[in-house]
Amino acid sequence: MLTTETIKTRSRNEWVDITALVEAAVVKSGIKDGIVVVFCPHTTAGISINENADPTVPRDLTRKMSELIPQHDDYDHSEGNSDSHLKSSLVGAQETVIISNGKLLLGTWQSIYFCEFDGPRSRKIHIKVV
Ligand code: ZN
Repeated sequence: MLTTETIKTRSRNEWVDITALVEAAVVKSGIKDGIVVVFCPHTTAGISINENADPTVPRDLTRKMSELIPQHDDYDHSEGNSDSHLKSSLVGAQETVIISNGKLLLGTWQSIYFCEFDGPRSRKIHIKVV
């Protein structure tokens, strides 16, 4: 089963917790044991799994990535968003999570994040349950 969801981001750099969207797609599929692939079809955003309990973790990730990869630098790409492309490749375009007994086999402190690096925008993600 394939689901496509829209995510509206509010900042240039933002980590949006999409775990509930993925869980809903798994429940809707009726699949109890399998895998779910969460895919980002954008070149300036990505998908990552990280801590959900402390909101300072995504904030630190956003801040440190922007320190390491500044928006303005000696880039060749003329659109002004080379930093966004670099961050996108660093976190990657997808995550795969195991489904066991109808639930995502995530760790206690893990969430699935949509990582915006060139927002605010309206974005899509594809969720494939197998
Ligand atoms: Zn670009």
